[in-house]
Amino acid sequence: MVPKLDELEESYRQAMDSRMVTTGPNAELLGTTAAELLGVDHAIAVSSCTAGLLLATQALNLPPGSEVIMPSFTFMATALGAVWNGLRPRFVDVDWRTMNIDPDRVEEAISSKTSAIFAVHQFGNPAPVERLKKIADRHGLKLLYDGAHGLGSKYRGTPVGRFGEAEVFSMSPTKLVIAAEGGLVTTNDARIAEHVRLGRNYGNPGNYDCLFPGLNARMSELHALMALRSFEKLDHAVDQRNQAVHIYSELLADIPGILIQQIHPADVCSYKDITITIEEHDFGITRDRFVQALKADGIETRVYYAPVLHKMTAFQQYHLEDDRFDLRNTLYLEKSAVSLPLYSDMTPDEVEQVCHVIRSIFYYREDIKNLTAA
Ligand SMILES: *Cc1c(COP(=O)(O)O)cnc(C)c1O
Repeated sequence: MVPKLDELEESYRQAMDSRMVTTGPNAELLGTTAAELLGVDHAIAVSSCTAGLLLATQALNLPPGSEVIMPSFTFMATALGAVWNGLRPRFVDVDWRTMNIDPDRVEEAISSKTSAIFAVHQFGNPAPVERLKKIADRHGLKLLYDGAHGLGSKYRGTPVGRFGEAEVFSMSPTKLVIAAEGGLVTTNDARIAEHVRLGRNYGNPGNYDCLFPGLNARMSELHALMALRSFEKLDHAVDQRNQAVHIYSELLADIPGILIQQIHPADVCSYKDITITIEEHDFGITRDRFVQALKADGIETRVYYAPVLHKMTAFQQYHLEDDRFDLRNTLYLEKSAVSLPLYSDMTPDEVEQVCHVIRSIFYYREDIKNLTAA
């Protein structure tokens, strides 16, 4: 949640008065606070998750031109860290129910050119981290997590943030913890942590002898203060979202053709979004028609992700037409998935109202189907 101005005013005044407005004590405090909360050795505040992915990938020292296995059903930034570092994404399929990368597909896609696996905790649903670790270890691959949605998520009771070589979180405004713009790189590897620290500051160790091509990916003090405030509300936000999703699941359970993203019962999902699939055959209309019908009733939804990565102009060159890279579940989600309204202070009444509209759309599906496209 975005903190209120009056919650920040005093600390902003102090930061401005100190004249140290970037990468000062508050950005440090954000790092140590996050590290403690997530139970990881290092957490480094950076200017965005995307910048964090660039630097964390650079820190892995992967052979130029080597291949990185990743999902296509994700946000474009997942692939950017690889491509900016001269690596080649290899897109593999997801499990359409969990919406996370499918470890069986990962294993099939490994070749002598593969150097790493990039996985995502999609919408906050923890990825299958144990299986991915086994695969990475067995094949000598690096494992990096795009944890953009993962603050507040737990894999079998453990907060995400300490898996793989590193995990990278986002604090941009659609996420649960908000810095206006910001990211966090978390790792138990001191060498990666040091690389990201130097890399966010151009690669300058302090003596102006640039050690490697870094970025300006520092976090300003004002952003850090917003993030620190927002972090205090994380647990509450996750609780509220889980309660809202609980109501959604009860009220939508008996409507044919609607399935909510499947979370392992021992895991906690941050529910960055509540994402469902609309199975046209059972629900009676397409996802796109469903979205239009909700909109006509004043209910805004989000379609994540269309187009999927392997169809994007920047990335289609990396897609291989090969059975190992069959993306049928990805294509299914591209046309069937939709994220319903969900925010951290959503009331039960508001959830019920959305479910009521969804039920009436189902009831009038035949009429809606026969309407000419808007
Ligand atoms: C939002 C998002 C990012 C990018 O985060 P920024 O902080 O905006 O750079 C990366 N990956 C995923 C999956 C995202 O949803």
